[in-house]
Amino acid sequence: MRITCVGGGPAGLYFAVLAKLADPGHEITVLERNPAGVTWGWGVVFWDDLLDDLFRYDPVSAERIWESARKWDEYEVRATGKPDTHLAGYGFSLGRHRLLEILAERAEELGVRISYSDELSDLAALPPADLVVACDGARSRIRDEHAGHFGAEVEVARNKYIWLGTPHVFDTFTFGFEKTSAGWIWYHAYPFDDTTSTFIVECQPSTWAALGFDTLDAHAGAEKLRQIFGKHLGGQKLIDHRAEVGGTGWLNFRRVTAQRWDHGNVVLMGDAAHTTHFAIGSGTKLAMQDAMALADAVASGDPLPVALERYEHRRKAALAPLQKAARASSAWFERLPEYADLPAKRFSYALSNRRGEYPAWRYLLHMSTQSPIPRTLLRRTLAVRRWTRARRRPPILANTA
Ligand SMILES: Cc1cc2nc3c(=O)[nH]c(=O)nc-3n(C[C@H](O)[C@H](O)[C@H](O)COP(=O)(O)OP(=O)(O)OC[C@H]3O[C@@H](n4cnc5c(N)ncnc54)[C@H](O)[C@@H]3O)c2cc1C
Repeated sequence: MRITCVGGGPAGLYFAVLAKLADPGHEITVLERNPAGVTWGWGVVFWDDLLDDLFRYDPVSAERIWESARKWDEYEVRATGKPDTHLAGYGFSLGRHRLLEILAERAEELGVRISYSDELSDLAALPPADLVVACDGARSRIRDEHAGHFGAEVEVARNKYIWLGTPHVFDTFTFGFEKTSAGWIWYHAYPFDDTTSTFIVECQPSTWAALGFDTLDAHAGAEKLRQIFGKHLGGQKLIDHRAEVGGTGWLNFRRVTAQRWDHGNVVLMGDAAHTTHFAIGSGTKLAMQDAMALADAVASGDPLPVALERYEHRRKAALAPLQKAARASSAWFERLPEYADLPAKRFSYALSNRRGEYPAWRYLLHMSTQSPIPRTLLRRTLAVRRWTRARRRPPILANTA
């Protein structure tokens, strides 16, 4: 089969890897508009569920991802006027740049052709292919060219956010909330290698405008944020990639949905088909799980229309609960001032239960594990759980968990 993937993000590259593994006879080309090694964004977080899937589908790239990932073992919550509190949980983070490097390397080892600096401007200009995978991101040109057919809709979220990086290496995943004269502004930060952390800042639009971010350029905006969050950054700066190209990185999250995902031999995948708010940090995971489902469907041997239908059905069913959780989570942040006056432990519990799904015992556990000894016991218990889960994966994982 001749397959063209338009977009060399996590979805496109991982699908190329899996399709080639399933059938080395496929001729697969990935078109990527950026030069090799150039990407936007900082680190992404993921959890055991994605790791399990990655090891099941391609242990070679999974092992490289695991080895490069930073491991963290709880969440810290800081808020103006409150003592720091902690939330149970562990996870992993990895630079987007490194993730793409691993996937591109693996794809090329298997014989996939990646054409960099190759921007598709017109679907009709593509060389003939049996399957065209539109994995060109949230602003997919292919989807928007056929918006009527795909039934695509975009809902713009209210809060402003900006995706920054910093050389300050946070110990663990940290939420920090600062009260300014213009209202609350907060960050979601996590280390993703030995020298860098992701630092996503979010606030209500009224706070954003009152703090002057609507008129500051990228340099001045990053400097202003550094002053606001100075005590969290260990004297380090904040970096906005947009400063190199002009403009500013402040955005409103765009929630994309599409009623149909296929059109003839063209199929949507990853952010081109659906986006999921960063408040639950799952967009990359879902994009890669789309790739797994599409690779399975193509490998099934069914006629293409049946295979694409099966892929869409499987993924829409899997996405529904996460999208519900993402909506609840982003809505919580939009209502943040309603919770901000709660005492520290209740505030951090409200943050952790922002999807509104926890049973009552989670509240009791949270309240009783804020002091050092029970907190350490809980972390050790979770470390055992992580180790046990890792033991079920290939040996290298068991040895390093
Ligand atoms: C602030 C923020 C934080 C996030 N944090 C996390 C997180 O912690 N964990 C997580 O799992 N996810 C996170 N995400 C989401 C994640 O980044 C996306 O969901 C994921 O990148 C989707 O992968 P994709 O391959 O579908 O699309 P993309 O990663 O957007 O890749 C699309 C690719 O297509 C290329 N392209 C576009 N148009 C063309 C064209 N016409 N021709 C050729 N190439 C083209 C682009 O250059 C790009 O390389 C976050 C997102 C944001 C905004």
